[in-house]
Amino acid sequence: MNAPRPGNGTPLLEVRDLVVHHGQLRALDGVSLRVFPGEVYAIIGANGAGKSTLLRTIAGLHQPTEGAILYDGKDMTKVRPERRATAGIAMVPEGRRLFGSLTVEENLQVGATYARKGPWTIERVYELFGWMSERRTQRTAQLSGGEQQSVAIGRALVANPRVLLLDELSLGLAPVVVQRIYAMLPQILATGLTVLLVEQDVSQALRVASHLQCLLEGHTTLEGRPSDVTPAQVEAAYFGLAEGDGRAEGPPQGGSGGMGPPGSGGVTGGVVPPGEKGA
Ligand code: ATP
Repeated sequence: MNAPRPGNGTPLLEVRDLVVHHGQLRALDGVSLRVFPGEVYAIIGANGAGKSTLLRTIAGLHQPTEGAILYDGKDMTKVRPERRATAGIAMVPEGRRLFGSLTVEENLQVGATYARKGPWTIERVYELFGWMSERRTQRTAQLSGGEQQSVAIGRALVANPRVLLLDELSLGLAPVVVQRIYAMLPQILATGLTVLLVEQDVSQALRVASHLQCLLEGHTTLEGRPSDVTPAQVEAAYFGLAEGDGRAEGPPQGGSGGMGPPGSGGVTGGVVPPGEKGA
């Protein structure tokens, strides 16, 4: 998915110099990005970097103190979250946030309540996730983490968004489950969607992204196409090291099996700090 990036034209989603506070804390400090139609744009960064704050602000759940959010060329900065959703911005929140006492199908129906017209229906979601139809009457609280994540994605898809915001799909899931979920991405993109995702699992983000940005303590520390950045640059940006320092003490441990391209000899331990991921 490392396709050339459109050099001109209107980005579908644009964030300009965004500053967001949580009380006294400046969680985002002048972050900008441009996401073009059909892209998979990945935001990476360690715990507390401001990734979720960025997605939640785009969805309208936090109000920025400075900066602007443009969607399809229109200023959405002060638009209410529900209007952003009906305009075509949908989010799969960190931790899924399903209605656990409702069934799979009822959760999908919630997502479809104010749906735009488009290709995604509950039946189409069942086709995407082969197991789901048979379990449609099961409460989502009884599903595994990976199954719940799939329902959360389905719930966002049935709203027929143009931009899908994915917050930490991999959180708490075994690597094999994460890979299975990300394997659905091409089918989702094929229906015309644009994706902005947040990932702590850098290897995974690099595999799927056409463009990436690394945040550290609310600042942008790296931006570019995965093919244009080296593992050392990513590692330095992720941890806030001067470039090259990341290799000085050997690769960090943990994570999901390496962020460098196969055989690159790059950071082979992954940059996710130990203990971040459950199984
Ligand atoms: P994580 O992977 O841990 O979710 P993140 O990169 O998504 O990290 P954020 O969740 O955006 O980071 O948090 C950025 C900073 O803002 C952190 O210091 C966090 O503690 C703080 N923060 C986030 N949400 C709130 C909130 N609602 N109230 C106060 N502080 C918050």
